[in-house]
Amino acid sequence: MAKVISGKEVSAKVRADVKEECERLKEKGVTPGLAVIIVGDDPASRVYVNNKKKACAEVGFVSEEYALPAETTQEELLDLIDKLNNKKEINGILCQLPLPKHLDEKAVINAISPYKDVDAFHPSNVGKIMIGDYHFLPCTPAGVMELIHFAGIDVSGKNCVVIGRSNIVGKPMSMLLLHENGTVTVCHSKTKNLKEICSSADILVAAVGRAKFVKADMVKEGAVVLDVGINRDENGKLCGDVDYAEVEPKASYITPVPGGVGPMTIAMLMKNTLKAAKLQNGMDD
Ligand code: NAD
Repeated sequence: MAKVISGKEVSAKVRADVKEECERLKEKGVTPGLAVIIVGDDPASRVYVNNKKKACAEVGFVSEEYALPAETTQEELLDLIDKLNNKKEINGILCQLPLPKHLDEKAVINAISPYKDVDAFHPSNVGKIMIGDYHFLPCTPAGVMELIHFAGIDVSGKNCVVIGRSNIVGKPMSMLLLHENGTVTVCHSKTKNLKEICSSADILVAAVGRAKFVKADMVKEGAVVLDVGINRDENGKLCGDVDYAEVEPKASYITPVPGGVGPMTIAMLMKNTLKAAKLQNGMDD
C-alpha cells in the first residue's frame, strides 16, 4: 500500500505561507500583482484562468485579467505585454497557452520581461534553471519537487525516470531532479525499452498526456510515483498518466489525480508572483 502524497494538503500549506508573507509585504506598502492574458475562448484555458484569479484573491494579490478576442493580432498582443512589462503594480505576467494558431507563442514568451515571467518560460529563465542559478522555477515541476520534499524523500543518488520531454514539464523536471543529485533518465515517444527503463526507477515522474499509460509492470516495487498527467478516461472521468489502481499497491508513495500535482501548479505560481514582487521592490532575501 502506497502512502498518498496529497497535493491538496501541500498546496494549501504553500498558499497559506504565501498569504502570510503577502500580509507582511502589504504592511510595507507592496501588494503583489499578477496579470493574466487569455486570447480566445478555449474552455479549458478559461477554467485555468478563473482558478488563477481565485487563488490570487485568496492569498491577497491583485489580479488583472486581459481577455482578448481570438482574432487579436500579434502586434496587439505584444503591445499589451509591453504595457504590462512597464506597469509598476504588475509583478507577474502570464499568457495562458495554447494561443490561437495565428499567434507566435515563442515571440510572446520572449516578449514577457524575464523579471515578470512567473511561468519561467522565457529563454533567459530556462537558461538560469539549467545552471542552477534562478529566481523562478516552472510551476508544475516545482510543484512536484515540493511534494517530494514534503514527503521527506531524498532524491540524492536515486534512479529518477521522467517520461516526457516537453519544455513545460519533462525537461525542467529532469533538471530539478538532477540539481538534487538524482541520476536522471528522460524518456519520450522514441524511447526504446521504456518498460525496462521505467522499472529501474526509484522515482518515476509521468508527464506523457496519455490516460493510465503507466502500468504496474513498468513500476519497481517500492518506487515513488508522481503523476503529472491530466486526462479523461473512457468514461470521461479525470485521470492521470498512471493507472492508479494497478500501480498504487506496488508504489511506496504515489500522487493521485485529481488532488496531486494539479493543485501544486497554481500554488507555485502564487509563490513565484510573491517572489517577483519582492525582487522588483528590492526585498529579496
Ligand atoms: P506534451 O504533449 O507537450 O509532452 C508529452 C511528452 O510525452 C512528449 O515529450 C512525448 O515525447 C512523450 N510521449 C508521448 N507518447 C509517449 C510514449 N508512448 N512513450 C513515451 N513518451 C511519450 O505534454 P506536457 O505539456 O508535457 O503535459 C504532459 C501531461 O501533463 C498532460 O496530461 C498535461 O495535461 C499534464 N500537465 C499537467 C499540469 C498540471 O498542472 N498538473 C501542467 C502541465 C501539464
